[in-house]
Amino acid sequence: MRRGMMAAVAAAILVSVLGLTACSSSSGGSSGNGKSLGQSADAIQKRGVLKAGVKIDVPKFGYKDPGTGKIDGFEVDLVRAVAKKILGDPNKIELTGVTAKTRAALLDNGELDLVAATFTITEDRKKSLNFTDSYFTDGIAIMVKKSSGLTGLKDLDKKKIGVAKSATTKARLQEKADPLGVKPEFLEFDSYPEIKAALDAGRVDAFSVDGAILYGYLDDSTQILPDRYSQEEYGIATAKPKTDLAKVVNDTLAEMKSSGELDQLKQKWGLK
Ligand code: GLU
Repeated sequence: MRRGMMAAVAAAILVSVLGLTACSSSSGGSSGNGKSLGQSADAIQKRGVLKAGVKIDVPKFGYKDPGTGKIDGFEVDLVRAVAKKILGDPNKIELTGVTAKTRAALLDNGELDLVAATFTITEDRKKSLNFTDSYFTDGIAIMVKKSSGLTGLKDLDKKKIGVAKSATTKARLQEKADPLGVKPEFLEFDSYPEIKAALDAGRVDAFSVDGAILYGYLDDSTQILPDRYSQEEYGIATAKPKTDLAKVVNDTLAEMKSSGELDQLKQKWGLK
């Protein structure tokens, strides 16, 4: 009986020691300012650079200047704000150009810490990624050749619409087309320059995606039709397990919203 009690006490001590060990290891390292932002942010601090995916073909949001090779835009500035928060320096960023097709996989395989790339928050995507609250609202639009005479989705029955793979465009346009009795044919492409080339060559009748993205491809021979067919709320995405990082990024955006910095950035990029 006595021996049994001793064993129980020993077991209790062992459990509490293990518990303490588990506690101290889960608290993670501490940042330069002595305050830990969580395990994922600590790993970024250790590495010394924030790896972000941005668009490189969407002027004003994320665009790579072909002359200088420099990537700039509203979403690049958001990445800088997160780098400032985590690393104390907005310039400690490593940018990778992403597309609608590549961005989620680059988060999943750990190559990127976050993606700020005209990424619409959807219920389906939230099952596999974390999203911040929305920082910008856009809508799906349609670009056609001026000479086509096409005026909107209602004119696109049996016509070819070029859309990007893994984008929200096809499903949302389909939803609006069905009640109109309009049955367009969707052609899916890897990138926006390819869709624009297809429109120019007459291989598609329309190029559809968010208006903000289409504006980067507008030229003398094309026009963006006035209707919008969805509400696209853009959020910054992180890999699902990195909930601590998701919180840091969301907190950064929330602070920018309440301080007015977010609005100032939109103004800077002509988005307001
Ligand atoms: N914003 C839309 C989406 O997330 C369009 C695709 C894109 O961002 O490139 O699906």
